[in-house]
Amino acid sequence: MSDYLSKLEETSSRNDMIKILSDLFKESSTDEIDKVAYFLTGSIAAGYKDVQLGIGESMAKSSIALASDVDEDEVEDMMKNLGDLGDVAYKLGGEKDSLYPEFFKVEGDLTVDKVHEGLMRVAEASGESSQETKVKTLASIVAAADSASRRYIVRLSVQQMRLGVGDMTILDGLADSFLGSKDERPPLEHAYNVCSDLGYVAKILSKSGLDGVKRIRVALNRPLKPMLAQRVDKMSDILEKIDSDEISVEEKYDGERVQAHKDGDKVRLYSRRLNEITQQFPEIVKSVARHVEAETVILDGEAVAYDFEKENYMSFQKVMSRRRKYDVDEFMSKVPVKYMVFDIIYRNGSSMMRKSYSERLENLKEVLKGDKHMSSTGRIKTSKLEDLDDFFQNCIGRGLEGVVCKSLANDSYYRAGAREWSWIKWKPSYGSELADTVDLVVVGAYAGRGKRSGTYGALLCASYNHEKDVYQTVCKLGAGFKDEDLQNLPDKLKDARTNDKPVRLEVTKQVEPDYWFQPVYVLEVKASEITESPVHTCNWDKDKGRGLALRFPRFERWRPEKSAEDATTVEEIVEMSK
Ligand code: ATP
Repeated sequence: MSDYLSKLEETSSRNDMIKILSDLFKESSTDEIDKVAYFLTGSIAAGYKDVQLGIGESMAKSSIALASDVDEDEVEDMMKNLGDLGDVAYKLGGEKDSLYPEFFKVEGDLTVDKVHEGLMRVAEASGESSQETKVKTLASIVAAADSASRRYIVRLSVQQMRLGVGDMTILDGLADSFLGSKDERPPLEHAYNVCSDLGYVAKILSKSGLDGVKRIRVALNRPLKPMLAQRVDKMSDILEKIDSDEISVEEKYDGERVQAHKDGDKVRLYSRRLNEITQQFPEIVKSVARHVEAETVILDGEAVAYDFEKENYMSFQKVMSRRRKYDVDEFMSKVPVKYMVFDIIYRNGSSMMRKSYSERLENLKEVLKGDKHMSSTGRIKTSKLEDLDDFFQNCIGRGLEGVVCKSLANDSYYRAGAREWSWIKWKPSYGSELADTVDLVVVGAYAGRGKRSGTYGALLCASYNHEKDVYQTVCKLGAGFKDEDLQNLPDKLKDARTNDKPVRLEVTKQVEPDYWFQPVYVLEVKASEITESPVHTCNWDKDKGRGLALRFPRFERWRPEKSAEDATTVEEIVEMSK
């Protein structure tokens, strides 16, 4: 596997990467292919399982020192020169079996399976002596590996694979390997949207082929990617774009997307990024457990901050203050929330995904017995623009963010992860200037001068190119920050700082920043228009030597609930520019 990983590192051609991955998957057995897929993403399990190794840089340094029998100062010095712990472990080399057999014993070859087993043990170590267990177990795995493998095991342990492949490229590799071409990715991507587990898709594909993958269904306690809404710039376009005569117009809330999984009286909540956030909203957990009449259910909705005395919806910022591990009870009374449920995805063992909107709504009504902290979304059915506009104005008057219009066609299914024309959002800002704000990933920063010295003067921001699975820049962002936001920027972004350009970033020389960031932090930006640009790589046209850029971008807010791959896509920016 390490041979393939080093080949991947050496190329920047996406087609070559897909071929290398394809060959790697061909050589992987059904038993290990899921782990191969996890390792490629820099983890050891599906993201939603939140398996943390708990190895920081200094613990990794200790493990390397033990594995190579040198003192930690030497590791430290080499790190200063090489700048990458994986490279340090590679250089130090050496190979010995079973360094600490009481922590991790290797008999025979060190296989992918074996490395996975060891890293799982590292992740599971908890309690008083967990630090020692983690360091010595990792040291034993590293010690048993050849030099080339040490590099990647260490990188994996600190979650910095530096391979330049994202999930979509891995799916392309799987498609090429098992289905003959990367063009066969769509059914694999669909299955991935439903199960959120790349390793599982790989395993089923290897075991049962495409038919098996097509049978992957939504399951309890395994979040699926939420269905998303399109946007238009004229309200009347909504009725044209949606393919049913009548549409459902729903209230739109500015809160946090929450998927609730109920299994008997046990309830788990998942965020838009598919992280488990059950601890965050105890009142929602209680409401779903007590007032949803179904043994098992998956609901989709929005948690909104709500002032019960004044009967007012509160801002998105308020609900974001509930993102915390500590003082949960205090904030539960300071910022109470209401779970506004708009969809049902699963009921009593059956998937609802291939049912129409109306059928799902019937099911939702049957099971949802509202209470103080949970109710069904307000909605009307209409085919008239006047009714839509009236309902929209009424929503705005009540402090809501707008409306989401949904198709009532027979095939108005719940499509995981899809942004299609069966759901269309409409907000007051639409129809003027740039139709909507965009969510961008911070990939670089420029040193501040004058009033901004000591912090950043501007950030380099990028959109996500889903097709190519890379990030492409669209603007430098310096406006819209409050003074305190500005001062906090270096601290806020520090864990994403990196010495080199992120592998999956496409950037021109002209806008190269002073500091690079791994694509992690997402922010929302308002701009006045989209223009062609010779310096930004968004939707880059090689012949013209031009991409797209945002003009007069202003910072609106951070979007912690979005991952980098949830940022506005290049395809959406192209659509908006039209
Ligand atoms: P997106 O979620 O489309 O990527 P975004 O996070 O910037 O974009 P908005 O553009 O404000 O959010 O609107 C879409 C979001 O609105 C949905 O993801 C969901 O969280 C929320 N929402 C609120 N009410 C509804 C509703 N009735 N139906 C669907 N989504 C709703």
